[in-house]
Amino acid sequence: MSEAIVKGSNLNKILNGLIEEQLLTEEALSEAISKAESSRKNLGEILIEDGYISKEALESFIKKIFELPYVDLTSYVPDPEALKLIPKTIVHRYLILPLFEIEGNLTVAIPNPLTVFILDSISQEIGYELDPVLTTEDSLLDSVIVYYGISPDEMSDYHKASGSIAETENDFELKEENLFSIDLDRLAILESSSVSELLTEILLKAKKAEATAVHIEPIEGDFRVMYRVEGTLRTVGVAARSLQKPLTDYLKNVSKFPRQVERPVEKILELPRLGEMIISMFPTIHGERIVLTFERDPLRIDDIEQIGLSEEEKNDIKEVLNCRHGLMVIGAPINSGKTSTLRTFLRYANKEGKSAFMLAVEEVRPVEGVQFQKLRGEELLTAIEGLIHQDIDIIGLDEADSEEAIRACIRLAQKSMVILTIEASSITDAIRKMIDSGAETFSLSWSLSAVISQRVMKKNCSHCLEEYKSPLITNKVVKKYLGENFQVFRSRGCDSCRGSGVDGYVSVFEVTSFSESMKRKLATSFNPQDFQNQLRSKGVDSILSKAMEKVVEKQVTLEEVYRTTGFKE
Ligand SMILES: [Zn+2]
Repeated sequence: MSEAIVKGSNLNKILNGLIEEQLLTEEALSEAISKAESSRKNLGEILIEDGYISKEALESFIKKIFELPYVDLTSYVPDPEALKLIPKTIVHRYLILPLFEIEGNLTVAIPNPLTVFILDSISQEIGYELDPVLTTEDSLLDSVIVYYGISPDEMSDYHKASGSIAETENDFELKEENLFSIDLDRLAILESSSVSELLTEILLKAKKAEATAVHIEPIEGDFRVMYRVEGTLRTVGVAARSLQKPLTDYLKNVSKFPRQVERPVEKILELPRLGEMIISMFPTIHGERIVLTFERDPLRIDDIEQIGLSEEEKNDIKEVLNCRHGLMVIGAPINSGKTSTLRTFLRYANKEGKSAFMLAVEEVRPVEGVQFQKLRGEELLTAIEGLIHQDIDIIGLDEADSEEAIRACIRLAQKSMVILTIEASSITDAIRKMIDSGAETFSLSWSLSAVISQRVMKKNCSHCLEEYKSPLITNKVVKKYLGENFQVFRSRGCDSCRGSGVDGYVSVFEVTSFSESMKRKLATSFNPQDFQNQLRSKGVDSILSKAMEKVVEKQVTLEEVYRTTGFKE
């Protein structure tokens, strides 16, 4: 949190200015402030709606005191680092777009001058002082879609829910009917058949709000429903404890859990329109605590022939997976499909006459015929060591991010074929991470059979492709790969893709198997840049160049490549 933040600094500037310029009296202002507080509306909107000041006068006053410059988002590309500073949910909620950050000051584009009234509270939430610049609403909406990877549909829903000043005359109800509010009292009058509708509403809103989990838990006399969004739990509804029962019974029923849950139970559940999620019930003295976690892994394909590897990559990987021992590392950022790839490889490698085992710290969809053990992070090391003498042919380990666990996997790889996923941005980065774990380079180079990196991108719907002008087309990286005046395509949304423009996902991989000469070289020294050059001279294409090929094939947009690679090699 930047120390430079003085609570209310922007707001005070506005309020003092309004009085100094004699646009409002102090009495009128304090009246409007208390109205805004009690209705939880934007003070600027109250001032206009309740006739304290005209819209034109207030807007020109704001432009004057903030000296708001105008930015054209159709030609301006925000800094990817700045985009990470404001979570998607906040971008949605307030319609602001971060552009760049300098020493704790984050410049944000806003379409509505009245947003300055709430800048201070946004600052408090994200920990950066905000400098506003103006832009048009349409270009801001387009940019949010592009850089935060949401479908136009979703965006218009959010936009509707947030309500702009022009629309808020009397639809305050709609504005409050937001994603973070569920009327649980309805359970008191619901027919049992409509419990599923309420549950669907809870889960659909959670998905829209980008929640990773939904909690349904008993608390003193009541029960509440919470969403975990960006790591934080938000309560979306509370009702009398007795009303939890129909909801719990319904979930037990669809999950085929016993009526009396006496010990913790969990299972992967698939519900219509909602996809897969993990349901976990934990009995407490007040009743069951229920947590529904959405599947982290967007790819459903687990056939090695279909995950998007080239013939050559596939053959290299198959050869490695058929070895008796060795280490295969899948290094990719979070949400890049590495768990899915791990499952695919386990499924391929686990042939008749072999035994396979999978360890993970989070729930993953099981692989047929592969034993699965979910562990707490601190149990991982013991589990890996325990497998050394279990005579297992193939072992998959999802997210081994502790240095000890990585070192133990290298030892295990002398006896078994070990497939490991770690968080890394590229092949080179994955190897650097292995070395940084303190592993002895000789054992590492001896064990290491192959390293893979990957990204998952949203695939354009092929039924509604259209040529468009991307602001990224002038980027020098784009020019390098695609040349000048390249025509790019996106999907505008049609019935076939339910208006989303997206038709599933496409993966791009970077794959290298380790030859004897590479192993020898790694054993003596590792220089990331030299290694990278060595990969390219061997003909291993970078993820970025593979992704650009997908742009040429009209399968993905340039913006999607930017979102997943940052245009970095
Ligand atoms: Zn379509």
